[in-house]
Amino acid sequence: MFSETDFEKADRENYYGGPLGVEIDGNKTIFRAWSPLATGAYIRIYADGTGSNTIETLPMERHWTGCWQVEILRNLEGFFYVYVFEFEYRYLKSTADIYAVACGVNGDRSAVVDLKKTDPFGWDTVGRPVIESPCDAVIYECHIRDFSIDESSGVKVRYRGKFLGMAEDGLYIGKGTTVGLAHLKELGVTHVQLLPIYDYATVDEAKPWEQQFNWGYDPKNYNCPEGSYSTDAESPSARIFELKTLIMELHKNGIGVIMDVVYNHTYLTENSWFDLTFPGYFYRMREDGYSNGSGVGSEIASERAMVRRYIVDSVKFWANEYKLDGFRFDLMAVLDCDTINEIRSELDKLSPYVMMYGEGWSGGECAIESSRLCYKWNNAAFPQVGLFNDDYRDAIKGATFDAYRRGYVGGNIEFTNIIKRGLAGSVAHPDISGNDEAAWAQQPYQSINYCEAHDNWTMWDKIIISCGDFTDEEKVSADRLSAALVILAQGVPFLHLGEDFLRSKPKKVHGSDLETHEFFEDNSYNSPDFTNSIKWHRKIENTEIFRYYRELVRLRRTSPLFRMRTADEIREKLHFLSTEDIGVILMKLEDESDCFAVAFNPYREAKWVDLPGGMYFVRLSESGKSHEFPMMSNHVSIPPLSAVVFERCEEELSDLREKVSKHTQRFGTRNLM
Ligand code: CA
Repeated sequence: MFSETDFEKADRENYYGGPLGVEIDGNKTIFRAWSPLATGAYIRIYADGTGSNTIETLPMERHWTGCWQVEILRNLEGFFYVYVFEFEYRYLKSTADIYAVACGVNGDRSAVVDLKKTDPFGWDTVGRPVIESPCDAVIYECHIRDFSIDESSGVKVRYRGKFLGMAEDGLYIGKGTTVGLAHLKELGVTHVQLLPIYDYATVDEAKPWEQQFNWGYDPKNYNCPEGSYSTDAESPSARIFELKTLIMELHKNGIGVIMDVVYNHTYLTENSWFDLTFPGYFYRMREDGYSNGSGVGSEIASERAMVRRYIVDSVKFWANEYKLDGFRFDLMAVLDCDTINEIRSELDKLSPYVMMYGEGWSGGECAIESSRLCYKWNNAAFPQVGLFNDDYRDAIKGATFDAYRRGYVGGNIEFTNIIKRGLAGSVAHPDISGNDEAAWAQQPYQSINYCEAHDNWTMWDKIIISCGDFTDEEKVSADRLSAALVILAQGVPFLHLGEDFLRSKPKKVHGSDLETHEFFEDNSYNSPDFTNSIKWHRKIENTEIFRYYRELVRLRRTSPLFRMRTADEIREKLHFLSTEDIGVILMKLEDESDCFAVAFNPYREAKWVDLPGGMYFVRLSESGKSHEFPMMSNHVSIPPLSAVVFERCEEELSDLREKVSKHTQRFGTRNLM
């Protein structure tokens, strides 16, 4: 085995900054791969992505940097290839090209394609949607298969569960309930975040007729799209074309696309393409073998020069070639801050609108000093990157891993201070005392606010499990309250596909309808469609709830006070006012032109709050309605388990009186003021 010293020497003496992968130059095809300690390298060329159809095996030549190269005097577009690297001590196995941008079925062989030919018609004319600040985004996390695999999606059978299924616009069910892409538009989200769309290992692409499912956190070929989402996994260009078609359709509708990237581990370790290319180099090692900071076996050594280059190149490739609008880094704390900062500065050169955020935690102890890694507590070292706000998530829903612990929306007022922190973008704020450790963000765009994602119980399932004594109506109220907390908080709101119509992940438990945690799946990474797919008729059943989410999104997007850009602005324009009940929160947002008072009541009974000076109308009631009348001031009642948004009326009192008198004429006498 190679040692740490070998790797340090390779970084020092063999750093290579030139092109890697395949280059087609007229009638020549050039292949380049970096592996400085290999004693020999060969390329094997095939006619197909699978089977024993070798055309030829050719030796490659070593450049002093450790880059191996072979130039073939033919245009090999449409052919497949692998490399074989020779090491003195090791049995020889072939590997795909880690720099390949296309591959055959199941990603076992790399493919030569002309990327220009994979662009759908009109690709060059459709640009990225523009947002001024990450705080303007509303992110919706979707899984390609979940989105359209169920019959209720209305998608053509051959496109169900595929990239093209999500690209179908204009679909509705029942009496005009939008589904699919049209649903995204109606909800008003600005970005979708797609669970892994790069090529992953554990779905057999050669058997599309079988029901198979995986989230996709098992990377195989980082720079190729996943084949099971394509209508033809055998064709290397079909998956590229179809993914680009989806991105173009979303862009046409003003929706950005964020890619979930998993540079913290690979599915295989010893037999991964990384290890077959340069054994050990791509992973952090301990004396007894591979380190496990990812929690799943292999921990990528992002700090090594050519590993860092690989990750930076890979993100840049996706951002450029696929016009992606953002990247979500899985277990980002396995990666070092320098790598993440380098990606940020490279993306800034491309477009400042490309978002970057990730999970500020790892899956175990990493093999380098934690102060160098992207942990949430270390965020000042990578301040331009967002982080999932797990404090806020847990305060809203209760503990993530303790099924029965209630959150604020279940009436647990122990969490009130953390909820206030979250509402204020988790930046330091003079109105909040105590819990200072939860004021972790320097700026609001760093805080990705959520209560539900693909991991753990859905919000609705968690409410059912933890709030068993609530009536059905109370459960719905608790869910609405969770939505208001996520969407009306400073920072960046993040929703999970179907959360807006009470998504549930039932397990297949025969003969049981008990609503305990055993009935619901909290880790559905390979669960069947029964558990994971979106049943779109659920939107018809919960249409009022969906409308509430939609109105919250609309309010946020139309009122800049709900998406302030900086911590200073938040400290100036957002204030918490005192309330009689310790769990009730009254938040005032005010600038030169607008003033909102937002009340949150986590109790199972109505509570009273005292609005600040002025006359108010209900901008958004607990059920998502806007009422210009009656106007109110001072002492107002907030329904149980709800959020109510009041907006101050800026008109002169005389105008108000006139309005009231007109209202009285129309609706009869009621005491309005
Ligand atoms: Ca795959």
